[in-house]
Amino acid sequence: MKAIVAGSWFDGARHHAEPVTIVVDDDRIAEVLPGDRATGLPTTRCGFVMPGLVEAHCHLFLDGGELDFGARTRHLDAPFERMMEVARANVGRNLAAGVTLVRDAGDRYGVNHAIRAGSRTLAVRSAGIALRRPGRYGAFMAREITTLDEARAAVRELAATADDLKIIETGIIDFESGTVKGAPQFDAETLGAIVRCAHEAGLRTFAHCSGTEGIGVAVDAGVDSIEHGFFMTGDILRRMADRGTAWVPTFSPVHFQWRRPEVAGWSPPTIAKLRAILDSHAEHVAMAARLGVNLVAGSDAGSPGVAHGAALIDEIRHFLDCGLAMDQALRAQRPRCRGDCGAPKRRTSPGGSASTSRCSMPTRSTIPCIWEPLPRSCIRTARAQWRRRTPAAGCEAAPR
Ligand SMILES: [Zn+2]
Repeated sequence: MKAIVAGSWFDGARHHAEPVTIVVDDDRIAEVLPGDRATGLPTTRCGFVMPGLVEAHCHLFLDGGELDFGARTRHLDAPFERMMEVARANVGRNLAAGVTLVRDAGDRYGVNHAIRAGSRTLAVRSAGIALRRPGRYGAFMAREITTLDEARAAVRELAATADDLKIIETGIIDFESGTVKGAPQFDAETLGAIVRCAHEAGLRTFAHCSGTEGIGVAVDAGVDSIEHGFFMTGDILRRMADRGTAWVPTFSPVHFQWRRPEVAGWSPPTIAKLRAILDSHAEHVAMAARLGVNLVAGSDAGSPGVAHGAALIDEIRHFLDCGLAMDQALRAQRPRCRGDCGAPKRRTSPGGSASTSRCSMPTRSTIPCIWEPLPRSCIRTARAQWRRRTPAAGCEAAPR
């Protein structure tokens, strides 16, 4: 038995600004006591405690810290074992940030499935390989399908190993013009048929899409979750609220382009376009929260400048910067997100898993670190990474 005393906490639904004492027996939460209690047990103190974080959109085989575009391209031809090394390091980074579940958003090399099979510490939901139109965006994560029959056959084949179906519905944003490249990849009829086929096979669907036209098609086709969703509109958000469509707004990749324009060499007009895109995105995320759209936090880690683990914390901060209350921002983590990711809901309550994250997001002052009852090997990895950062007040390394 041991105890953790936190200055504030999130129980999976509500943020509590007052201290809490959580008694942990093996890997289960035995008791949650209000206030800072003397239990006589070995006690760890921290600024904030919550259930393990969920990263709803990342690409484990890609190193988001790699900013050399040539190196990133060469990585796509790297041997499988090299990709696995990168993915294992990213598992460690997620654990170090307090993430206990990730949803991988696709790779065509099968690294996500291999990591899922081998991971004892981080729960991985893997879509395997996504679907796209021939010659269109998404080569590194998707296979090409031409006809609806081909699509149906692919969905049935993927269903044998995938946890979700990822569909590439649009291109990416051309930051210089401030628009999305190309028309939507699938029309509403075809995409609707793919979604129905996936649902029949027991797969939820999530679609890469940005641009008003593509997002509208994806929502009308019944896709379960809109990924990215830049150039959102109020009308589409109302349809999403009615249909229960989730939104993973992935601020981080665009925010990095704006914050570090020298990496890609963006001109001042392009930097201004990036800022306008981010501002509009923030307004629509705030509107989504008001309308009751199911907002889910996912960082698109693996994209340039989007480091696994740390970027998810940034993503939650972006939600706060949109004006969301702490409760709303943390609920974008869980428990609905766990449900969307197909995992059991967890709460910081007796009987709950003690794979709990400790971090101090409410004060935005420190970095997160993971809670003890995870296996020792993973704790060691997380600690080693954590020590390389600068410890800050309110989040101590757990004594051992
Ligand atoms: Zn992605």
